[in-house]
Amino acid sequence: MYTSGKPRAKPHCFLASLGMKQEGSLRVLVKGVTDLEPGDHVLPVFTGECKECRHCKSEESNMCDLLRINTDRGVMLNDGKSRFSIRGQPIYHFVGTSTFSEYTVVHVGCLAKINPAAPLDKVCVLSCGISTGLGATLNVAKPKKGSSVAIFGLGAVGLAAAEGARISGASRIIGVDLNASRFNEAKKFGVTEFVNPKDHDKPVHEVIAEMTNGGVDRSVECTGSVSAMISAFECVHDGWGVAVLVGVPNKDDAFKTHPMNVLNERTLKGTFFGNYKPRSDIPSVVEKYMNKVASIPVNQSLPRRIIVSISVDLKQSVYEISQNIH
Ligand SMILES: [Zn+2]
Repeated sequence: MYTSGKPRAKPHCFLASLGMKQEGSLRVLVKGVTDLEPGDHVLPVFTGECKECRHCKSEESNMCDLLRINTDRGVMLNDGKSRFSIRGQPIYHFVGTSTFSEYTVVHVGCLAKINPAAPLDKVCVLSCGISTGLGATLNVAKPKKGSSVAIFGLGAVGLAAAEGARISGASRIIGVDLNASRFNEAKKFGVTEFVNPKDHDKPVHEVIAEMTNGGVDRSVECTGSVSAMISAFECVHDGWGVAVLVGVPNKDDAFKTHPMNVLNERTLKGTFFGNYKPRSDIPSVVEKYMNKVASIPVNQSLPRRIIVSISVDLKQSVYEISQNIH
């Protein structure tokens, strides 16, 4: 599962072993890894947390210098080589996880150790889009109790963002989507009103401004469409409104708005993985699900589990992988 609008891996990273959302248990422990044990339940995450760099040490950032997502890397950090091969040719890693394979090798900084009682077939989605949407609202937009929030895009990420607004106590959660069939499902995650831009002959930000006496208090954009991003920004109230961009745009997109929209005290923010640090924060997101504080907007259980080997030294890990492929 990979967002289509994200930058592509360079040709030299093909053949790649794909996959980025999965769960698993640890099979191999490698010298130097001290905070995990064999049998631990972990979520492999496409971005990482080394706990040493200035980003990891900052309370405000999760953009780890060492392990942030890099679609072009395709290899392990310690020796610049892949742990996958077929007939002597390397198969490159994909965003550090490569979880479509039954066995994989992941940097220890990209593994979140979670509650072993958590249902792995459900919480695996917390390693990507669901936490992204939830965190965008809870950690970045931070709507106050009783406030109004617009969610652009009601896919899984948008529903998670709506769930964040519901948890925050927002009184009006306005879902915006071109697909009207999504509204019923969205109600389960707190969406109270629905706007389909196709139903109106004026810009959607004007529709929302009319509905809310000047604009919503917060908006979260989860589509990756640059026009939706601009609408999400322009629909927040002047004076205090905050818009958060979550979706990943196309390479050549440009965000265009009149500077007065900013000068009138609207704030535009962006977030990566909901501002969650994978190792420090994702275990608590799993607990939110376990304690029924938050719901996960994915109905189906995901059937596969993987065995995760931790990288640092690779001799044992290579053995695990080669057993699987050959
Ligand atoms: Zn770091």
